[in-house]
Order: sequence, then C-alpha cells, then structure tokens
Amino acid sequence: MALAFDEFGRPFIILKEQEQKTRLRGLDAHKANISAGKAVARILKTSLGPKGMDKMLSSPDGDVTITNDGATILEQMDVDNQIAKLMVDLSRSQDYEIGDGTTGVVVMAGSFLEQAERLLEHGIHPIRIAEGFEMASRIAVEHLERIAQKFEFGPANLEPLIQTCMTTLSSKIVNRCKRDLAEIAVKAVLAVADLERKDVNLDLIKVEGKVGGKLEDTELIYGIIVDKDMSHPQMPKRIEDAKIAILTCPFEPPKPKTKHKVDIDSVEKFQTLRLQEQKYFDDMVQKCKDVGASLVICQWGFDDEANHLLMHRNLPAVRWVGGVELELIAIATGGRIVPRFQELTPEKLGKAGLVREKSFGTTKDRMLYIEHCANSRAVTIFIRGGNKMIIEETKRSIHDALCVARNLIRNNSIVYGGGSAEISCSVAVEAAADRYPGVEQYAIRAFADALDSIPMALAENSGLQPIETLSAVKSQQIKENNPFYGIDCNDVGTNDMCEQNVFETLIGKQQQILLATQVVKMILKIDDVISPSEY
Ligand code: ADP
Ligand code: MG
Repeated sequence: MALAFDEFGRPFIILKEQEQKTRLRGLDAHKANISAGKAVARILKTSLGPKGMDKMLSSPDGDVTITNDGATILEQMDVDNQIAKLMVDLSRSQDYEIGDGTTGVVVMAGSFLEQAERLLEHGIHPIRIAEGFEMASRIAVEHLERIAQKFEFGPANLEPLIQTCMTTLSSKIVNRCKRDLAEIAVKAVLAVADLERKDVNLDLIKVEGKVGGKLEDTELIYGIIVDKDMSHPQMPKRIEDAKIAILTCPFEPPKPKTKHKVDIDSVEKFQTLRLQEQKYFDDMVQKCKDVGASLVICQWGFDDEANHLLMHRNLPAVRWVGGVELELIAIATGGRIVPRFQELTPEKLGKAGLVREKSFGTTKDRMLYIEHCANSRAVTIFIRGGNKMIIEETKRSIHDALCVARNLIRNNSIVYGGGSAEISCSVAVEAAADRYPGVEQYAIRAFADALDSIPMALAENSGLQPIETLSAVKSQQIKENNPFYGIDCNDVGTNDMCEQNVFETLIGKQQQILLATQVVKMILKIDDVISPSEY
C-alpha cells in the first residue's frame, strides 16, 4: 500500500494488487468451487416440491420476501462468491427461458457437482468427467423425448392445461386455491395466445395486486385496470361503449405564466377574465364532446373548478394517470395518445365496451376497470390477498403457471413429475453407461446417481425415508417398465403420477438437465482461481 497525491493534491491510496491476490490452483481450486456451488444448492434443496419449505429473506432496508421460488430466493440472497453467482445465473436462465423449474435446476446442478467431487477424489481428470456428463445429459434428454406424451387440448378441452398449471402451483404457498388460479392462468394465456403461430406474448398479461380481500377473490379481467378513480364523486360509475380521449396535455383553462402580466384594476375586468377562462375551458369540453368522447383520461390534473365544470357538462374524467398506464390504455383500447389538444380527432379515441369504477372494502379505495376493449388481447390478472407478501408470492406463482401454459402451447409434450422422469432417465443413463468403454463410463454412472437426487429431495421434504422410498419406486419402474412412478409427496396413496395428474413440460425438464450440465462442465474446467484477498 502506498499513499500518493493526484494533480489537485487530494490523497489517495494505491494498493499493490498482485501481491495481495490469493490464488488457488488445481484440485484445490476445483474443490473450493464445487463446495461453493454445493452450498447454494443445499439452501434450495429444502424448497423443492409440494411440501418444500419457504424462505424468508429480508433486505437491508427491511423489506421481507417470503418465497419458495428458486430464482427469487437466489436473486435476493446477495451472494458474493463468483461460483455461487454462476448458480444464481443458472436459476435465472431457467426462469427466462422456461419460467418454472428454477429450484430443481439448481438442486440438480448441486448433485452433479457432488458426484464430480467424488470422481475427482478418485483421480479422474476433470475433462473426462465433463465429457462423461455431456454424453450422459444427451442420453437423458433423448430418453425424456421417448417417455414424453403429447397432450391434446383445445378451447373446448382446457383440462390438460389446467392440470399442468396445477402441478406448478401445488408447490407454492397458494396451493389452497390452485384450481382457481390455474384456471385463471390458462384462460389468460389463451386470451392472448396466437394458436396458429403457437406463440404467446406474456407482456399482454398484466398481473396486478391489491392488499385486501382474500385469495379466492383473485379475478381475470378481460381488459385492464387502473388504480385511479373518476375525478368527481358524482360522475357516472359505469360507462358503456366508452369512447376514450387519452390526453397528455393539460385539461384546464390556461394559467397566466409568470412571464406575463395581467393588470386587473376593476371588478369588470376580473369578471371578463373569469368568463374568458370559463369559456376557454367550456370550448375544450365542447371539443371533446364534438369528437364523440364519453370519457377523458388525462395525464395531468385539473383544478376543482374545472372538475366541477366537467361534472356539470356531463363529461366523466380521470386525472393524474401515469405514463405507463396511459400507454397501456392506449394499446388496449386502440386509441392514440393525444399530446396537443388541437389534434384531438374522432379516430384517435380509444374504444372500450365497459368502463366502471369499483370500490373495495370499507375504505375509499377505488379502481377503474376498462373492459371489453377494442384490442381484446390484453388481459389483467387481479390478485387479492391478506398482505403484500402473499400478493408478491402469488404474482411469482402465477408467473410460473403462465409460463407453463405458454410452454405447453409452444410444445404440447409433457413428462410426468414427482421425480418420475428423473428416475426413468437415471435408469436409462445407467444402462447406457455399460456401452462406453472409456473412463467416461464412471462419469456417466455418476450422472445417473445425481439424477436420483431430485426424487430423493422430494421424498425427504415430504417427510419420507429418502433412500427407501427411492429404491422402492425405482424397482417398481424397472419391474413394470413404466416411467410414471414417482414420489407420492402428498400421501395420496398411489405412486402413479399419471393417476395423480402431476405433469411437467418436456421442454422445461430438458432445459433443466441441459443447463445444469452446462454449468457443471464450466465449473469443472476452472483450475485456477485468482482473487483479491481481503485487506
Ligand atoms: P421448481 O422451482 O423447480 O419448479 P418446485 O418447488 O415447484 O420447484 O417443485 C417442483 C417439483 O415438485 C417437480 O419435480 C414436480 O414434479 C414436483 N411436484 C409438484 N407437485 C407434485 C405432487 N403433487 N406430487 C409429487 N411431486 C410434485
Ligand atoms: Mg415449480
């Protein structure tokens, strides 16, 4: 360390970096990295599955999050270690690409790492392990394809979609009303889906929440909601076939700016000014009426006098609507945002079948529902719940369910959950290992063992004996050659996941295996870690 001064005479400290760096090489580096990755996976392991635990995370400023979603837990955990960050990224990429399976992917990567550590101790070269894992993952992904089933669904037969969403929701806090939420999610996705192109734009589904009511009150609105109310309490609360003028310009009489000076020295002059102002505003209202608007939504406010006038002239208005909401309203109603009052024309009005104001509870909380819009492909899921944490967690759970429904529309193949797909892959990979003559076969076998960790974690989290349960299910699968047997987490009485209706999407499961393998390979290839030591 040395003290120096810059050109302004301010002192600063130079740290001689190279001397202070710590360095880990070879096996030590591998081991340190693996244990960092394993540590992250261990945290998530207890959150997996329908009986998984939730985590409570409090941020430095005191916000508390309670969640069971892997991506969210890791996102909030503020990890420092670089390898641990890779695991966080792993979960995030599963979240971006698939939306569900974010806990499972990290648990899987953790058990790959565990197996890799064992093989390293046996003296197998990391590259051989990485190659073996790669081969095994390819076998597993192909095997998944083989055991996958096609799911036929249509607007008349939504049950398969709902069941799959229910599997996703069953591991969340909200599983009490998973049926309702799954139905909402499926209907929302279908409302915005382009079934011909097999594509869903999830941006069109807005998820809103408001504290109060109960989870069962959560509803799907074919339109949008805005957290605003009519500017005057006596304005109509219900407007059918609304034509909406969306303004970003002030909607009130012009105010004298400071640059101008108005000399008023007599009552008459004041009266004229007042009338003038009133007439000006009156003209504005008339202009709105002339173009056919039956509702004005304004980004700016207007004063009480203007408000009164609007009420008087029977033109309902909403003030102080934020820019984002304005855009949303414009997209949904097919209207144009009008930045200058003179530009208001009939074509620029948005259209909605019904605009209504709804009040909640005993408070003066009101929201504006804009429904049956011109552009029908914008829907809102409106979540109610006892507190903010529940609402936030419900939002995350709904997001998972929406993603699952979207994935099924993209690709309607499913595999069975409850660890059954993993067990089946494990058996297939194990059998394939014998065909490889090289050292890789050890890695391939280890991969098969690692796959078992998902059903094991599910069993453990459900209070079952992990090893006994797993071996029983596995032997059942082999004996009956049936890949549907999984862990009976909810103690339903059958291991058959087909009967229990526990499904997961094929692409989700494949992605989990591919992503986890990729990260583990990456970690295995690092044999030199250079980092600044602590000062
Ligand atoms: P992730 O974030 O990975 O989706 P979850 O906590 O949602 O983690 O757990 C998903 C796992 O739980 C999957 O392996 C799934 O098959 C399993 N699962 C979900 N519902 C059930 C159920 N009812 N019975 C058995 N397993 C289930
Ligand atoms: Mg899930």
